[in-house]
Amino acid sequence: MSGNFLALAQPGVQQLSPYVPGKPVDELARELNLDPANIVKLASNENPLGPSPKVLAAIREELVELTRYPDGNGFALKSLLAQKCGVELNQVTLGNGSNDILELVGRAYLAPGLNAVFSEHAFAVYPIVTQAVGADAKVIPAKDWGHDLPAMLAAIDAQTRVVFIANPNNPTGTWFDAQALDDFLQDVPEHVLVVLDEAYIEYAEGGDLPDGLDFLAAYPNLLVSRTFSKAYGLASLRVGYALSTAVVADVLNRVRQPFNVNSLALSAACAALKDAEYLEEGRRINESGMLQLQNGLRELGLGWIPSKGNFICVDLAQVAAPVFQGLLREGVIVRPVANYGMPNHLRITIGLPAENSRFLEALAKVLARG
Ligand SMILES: *Cc1c(COP(=O)(O)O)cnc(C)c1O
Repeated sequence: MSGNFLALAQPGVQQLSPYVPGKPVDELARELNLDPANIVKLASNENPLGPSPKVLAAIREELVELTRYPDGNGFALKSLLAQKCGVELNQVTLGNGSNDILELVGRAYLAPGLNAVFSEHAFAVYPIVTQAVGADAKVIPAKDWGHDLPAMLAAIDAQTRVVFIANPNNPTGTWFDAQALDDFLQDVPEHVLVVLDEAYIEYAEGGDLPDGLDFLAAYPNLLVSRTFSKAYGLASLRVGYALSTAVVADVLNRVRQPFNVNSLALSAACAALKDAEYLEEGRRINESGMLQLQNGLRELGLGWIPSKGNFICVDLAQVAAPVFQGLLREGVIVRPVANYGMPNHLRITIGLPAENSRFLEALAKVLARG
């Protein structure tokens, strides 16, 4: 006799589905016997530029130290971030990707009997970090695919400890402006930590997307999380960070693994922060790629959700799964979002011009086949 170890898992975990990542290139190559070099992956919001040469040089230099533990306090990276973001060193928390930050928040502030509030169609990691610790997820219906901040506010109760908001949101690309954020923060009760997930902020700087850092001083219950996975092109290394009050940073520091960010990631992130040209080039490629995709979609008679990220959700006006499969057979990997409650959409990461063209040609072909 052995126990039923699914039924024995805590109830919140039993109700979770595992995170579904974008399909890896090598997996599709294996399955369809394709040349990996001919496969285009626009499925995980990765930076199509590849890593910056300066980052690669920093990593190579760090390799000789691999036998040693990394600096568990991440002093060099925290110093650079504090300087760049205009905060004190003790307001910075480093994470093994910003997903790690989200998890630290869950572990420190959520528990059975407590809840987290977040939006329908919001990032898939919010339910995971909430239910993993036995807390309740309060999922608030979206408005025009985006966060309905007033409704989220209304859903906060005495047991709410965390609100997760993503600006822009993944997978929808939707965003809210500074006024909406300020109105929201003003009314959030003091016992609730607001996690403002700015994974794509570097792509949207200068537009009407607010910079969360501008609100830190006024709202001690605000935490801003950011990542090196997207615009900085370091998804595989896993490094992200949070900016908050020193008190919240101290709490998160108590529950994190002692060496949660490895030494290659620390060095790479430092080098990446100093490489303004790479970031600028990425923004430029993203902006023109976004226009290229929109023009192509328009020609195909398709709609999309306006996006401030490095991705766009296409409305296929039909169940998207067969189109996704058809694209795979053409060697193009995009992201189905049915698990986000969006069965008629596909999320396309903005790629290099040739990759975007490959996608648009493949899509035209698949749709023509019907
Ligand atoms: C990609 C993404 C992250 C970042 O994940 P990492 O763990 O930093 O790689 C966080 N939030 C959202 C909304 C994202 O799309």
